[in-house]
Amino acid sequence: MIPLKSEEDLKMLREAGKILNRIIRKLEEAVKSGVSTEEIDNLAERLVAEEDCLPAFKGYRGFPASTCTSTNYVIVHGIPDEQRIKQGDILSLDLGINYKGYFSDSAVTVPVGIIDSKLEKLIKVTKQALSEGIKQAKVGNRLSNISCAIQDYVENNGFSVVRQFVGHGIGRSLHEEPEIPNFGQPDQGAVLKHGMVFAIEPMVNMGTWESEILDNGWTAVTKDRQASAHFEHTVAITNQGPEILTDN
Ligand code: MG
Ligand code: MG
Repeated sequence: MIPLKSEEDLKMLREAGKILNRIIRKLEEAVKSGVSTEEIDNLAERLVAEEDCLPAFKGYRGFPASTCTSTNYVIVHGIPDEQRIKQGDILSLDLGINYKGYFSDSAVTVPVGIIDSKLEKLIKVTKQALSEGIKQAKVGNRLSNISCAIQDYVENNGFSVVRQFVGHGIGRSLHEEPEIPNFGQPDQGAVLKHGMVFAIEPMVNMGTWESEILDNGWTAVTKDRQASAHFEHTVAITNQGPEILTDN
């Protein structure tokens, strides 16, 4: 069953989304050549604490950091370390927070300085794919209309969608039902209702959709080591239309 949120829950989730958006904007500004991913994670941890929130990923199934920092061919779940990002890299930042028992989750891919035009296109297409998915997050649609819109947009632009990782319901837990794949046929799955809240998160590869996990058990990379981008918003389905909680 997909949990439906009360108006009170939605109010709290709106606040959780607003705070996370604020933090992510600051993290984006910190992305510069020469900065280590550990430094960005330390900043995230400080900003989350300043907002009286808890980092949702730290300790989640043993994940060692607050932020997932995924560079270049890392798809998701990159672990922050002393490695310094450099001009021409792309860096995906994924952060989840817990605000008084309410969770929000959001990700962005940020260019480091001037990047290759094909990487620019990858970022632009992934971001727009998220928007295309969100447009379908409306009352009366079926769940897979979101998935299908993302896949169509990405593949029409010559890139591929990751199969191994998917979006998810969110609310009183970081991960709730349902799973939201970024691929699939239209008009399948649950009918969307007011009060459902989803983390929609296309992960888009420049080359093959296939992925693999590195020996640390976390870091997911593209099988062909070509670049990957990731955007995510926490979105409420409401009678007034999709409400992007992490973008206000
Ligand atoms: Mg996330
Ligand atoms: Mg997520």
